[in-house]
Amino acid sequence: MLMETKMIDTSTEFIHQFVETVPEGERIRLCIQCGACSGACPFGFVMDFPPHGMIAMLRAGMLDDMLKSDTAWMCVSCLACTQVCPAKIPVTDGLTTRVKEEMLLAGNVPTELQDALEKAQRYFNPLGESPRKRAEWATKLEPEITIMAKAKRPVDVLWFVGDYASYHPTARSATLALTKILNALNVDFGILGPEEVSDGDSLRLAGESGLFEMMAEKNAKAFEKYEFNEIFTSDPHAYNALKNEYPRLDISYPVRHFTQFFVERLEQIQPLLKKNIDANVVFHDPCYLGRANDIYEEPRQLLQSIPGVELVEMSHTRENSLCCGGGGGGMWLDGFRWEKAEARISEWRVREAVSALGNHETTNESGRARILAIACPYEAPRFEDAIKSMPSAEGLIVKDIAELLAESMGV
Ligand code: SF4
Ligand code: SF4
Repeated sequence: MLMETKMIDTSTEFIHQFVETVPEGERIRLCIQCGACSGACPFGFVMDFPPHGMIAMLRAGMLDDMLKSDTAWMCVSCLACTQVCPAKIPVTDGLTTRVKEEMLLAGNVPTELQDALEKAQRYFNPLGESPRKRAEWATKLEPEITIMAKAKRPVDVLWFVGDYASYHPTARSATLALTKILNALNVDFGILGPEEVSDGDSLRLAGESGLFEMMAEKNAKAFEKYEFNEIFTSDPHAYNALKNEYPRLDISYPVRHFTQFFVERLEQIQPLLKKNIDANVVFHDPCYLGRANDIYEEPRQLLQSIPGVELVEMSHTRENSLCCGGGGGGMWLDGFRWEKAEARISEWRVREAVSALGNHETTNESGRARILAIACPYEAPRFEDAIKSMPSAEGLIVKDIAELLAESMGV
């Protein structure tokens, strides 16, 4: 067991602690059992206790019975329930995350998640990669990337790269595209390299608040060593941690997601976007950019600035966007979820993309590319895998907004 927190004995104690420790936690008493949360939940249909059922179980004093079911692990922390709750109850950050914490303490945890948590504890990233290889993607690049410990100089922007953008082979192409754009814009940036560890936000949402705090403290120690004006990240989960969660631990720095950072420099970027990308494009709103942080316009502004791009919306869009299935530990629970639901929400999302692009007046028959644009390193591997298993999605291309910008800039 990774956490040393004491397990809660009763439903009353759970609710009391919820009210005392979760921001806006007292709102849990306002639940009217309308079921909107469970209706909005992508996996509600397979949960023994979807969010409104969790509250009903707590009210009935049946915490123990609830913890015997493992279907809380179907929660991907997508915030759809929180978004629709008329009583503004912190369902995701409060309820489902707290229930997962109790499930961890009760030892009711799927093996693949346990494995990821143990890797995170040992290697400081849930992929189990060597911390020394965190900046391997940056070796042999020209111009050389500034690694703070080696350069020993202040930089304007500290790039918090994140786990998947550092290590995952599919996500790394967006990381390289970002490097080229930052260089083209003459941004003075540096990375922490091996001193950076996981942002920890997905560990927190998977119920491991102890590991989250450990990661935050390690990152804070690295931040304190260097001088910089702001933090830049391509990872919405890292962005959410740095913007909303680290300050609760007194770790506070100005941070921007790359879409915000580039929109602020659109006047500089626009003249560099010379190459046409003849494509119909849908944008997948990442949960921790959109619902968690209200960043909906910036990604669209960037896409619309690329010559040749025609932006089309999917049926679930902006605050109603459908999760890719990677949040809240979902990246490490695909096998478990398939066993329970025989469904992958990444496939549902790809089906929506195909439908939106296919129904649009200019389809791929016209020779234009069809692109599912993303802005989160979790998404490329998930959507690419989904496309491979879906004949109807043949030809659909997944591209990070950074890759599309770099391509149009010709860098
Ligand atoms: S949407 Fe809110 S008020 Fe309605 S059942 Fe869910 S938690 Fe309760
Ligand atoms: S956060 Fe998403 S997956 Fe989890 S309970 Fe809410 S709607 Fe369902």
